[in-house]
Amino acid sequence: HVSTKPPPEPSPLRKAKFFQANMRILVTGGAGFIGSHLVDKLMENEKNEVIVADNYFTGSKDNLKKWIGHPRFELIRHDVTEPLLIEVDQIYHLACPASPIFYKYNPVKTIKTNVIGTLNMLGLAKRTGARSESSSLCFYSHRLLRSTEIHSCTLKTETYWGNANPIGVRSCYDEGKRVAETLMFDYHRQHGIEIRIARIFNTYGPRMNIDDGRVVSNFIAQAIRDEPLTVQLPGTQTRSFCYVSDMVNGLMRLMAGDNTGPINIGNPGEFTMLELAENVKELINPEVKIITVENTPDDPRQRKPDITKAKELLGWEPKVKLRDGLPLMEEDFRDRLGISRKK
Ligand code: NAD
Ligand code: UDP
Ligand code: UDP
Repeated sequence: HVSTKPPPEPSPLRKAKFFQANMRILVTGGAGFIGSHLVDKLMENEKNEVIVADNYFTGSKDNLKKWIGHPRFELIRHDVTEPLLIEVDQIYHLACPASPIFYKYNPVKTIKTNVIGTLNMLGLAKRTGARSESSSLCFYSHRLLRSTEIHSCTLKTETYWGNANPIGVRSCYDEGKRVAETLMFDYHRQHGIEIRIARIFNTYGPRMNIDDGRVVSNFIAQAIRDEPLTVQLPGTQTRSFCYVSDMVNGLMRLMAGDNTGPINIGNPGEFTMLELAENVKELINPEVKIITVENTPDDPRQRKPDITKAKELLGWEPKVKLRDGLPLMEEDFRDRLGISRKK
């Protein structure tokens, strides 16, 4: 005899067990460039519930539109400089404008975001940690590296303590990140909060703000608009660019592992700005001109992460080469600029 009755509802106890295995993850700054790609990846796991807290200063709901309305997803308009009372198991704290144009626009707000925002997230981790074993905090910084000393620095290892000019116009960002790292370690030592610190290096990919002045987004937008690529002098300065999917994988590896960090996450492949311009020209618009323009003071001559620690401790290294990543960005920029490829 086969029963045609529907199976009984799971008991409250079974339901509770099911939910225990689930992970509720907060992503601050989740409407931004890196945060929204992280959300996409976290949402792939059906055990994850994702909450984004963002004030939309540099991010946009558009970056998350495919998740709005999804039962495992929640979007809160929230400024991290205000306390946040929710229940979570993990926090990826990414809220902070990354581009100089935006972080210099309201420097007081930038330093508040870095300092008070991180303090609030640590308070949240402390409170929810009392109830959840897995409460941990992932925090992102880099660019402790902006002073003139940096010009002679080559490979950056995690032992680098940073050397920021405390009274300069970039200090709201650089010093803010340094204080945030201090707060993280003090909460870790004093309150036993589980922490992870990633030092993020230059990242590129779809959903970067088109006019935020960063070099990769500038060159790609210029190539698409048929405008000359503006290489800032001398053009021989180098950067290392990490494709956003590699970055997200690195951040998730760090969160899943046992090491607090700081750990460098970035791509060690090093390019001069002239080489970058030539690659963009060749791949996106062979007709476009390359010109040189004035640079800003204090521009670091070289930046390349040493990722030995990430390789050894996380088993992570980037996979996407610059020449493969740039075309992936082109499509997204063309869509948003409404300019299709010439036949
Ligand atoms: P982004 O500007 O695209 O994203 C930041 C997000 O934070 C945005 O959605 C913005 O609206 C939000 N935000 C800013 N202030 C906030 C506040 N007070 N409250 C709530 N939300 C706020 O930048 P991104 O490139 O995605 O950077 C994310 C993190 O990575 C930042 O901490 C940044 O400093 C760090 N980082 C990025 C890079 C890079 O190359 N993109 C390099 C080093 C470090
Ligand atoms: N906080 C928060 N969410 C919480 C718990 C705390 O935003 O769930 C904030 C709180 O408002 C405070 C900060 O985090 O400003 C630090 O909290 P903590 O408990 O460490 O410090 P205290 O409140 O004792 O100063
Ligand atoms: N840069 C450039 N042309 C541009 C924008 C930037 O040549 O249109 C150069 C800039 O001088 C710097 C490098 O690109 O040497 C990276 O600048 P970005 O602002 O993207 O990042 P960061 O300086 O933070 O690494």
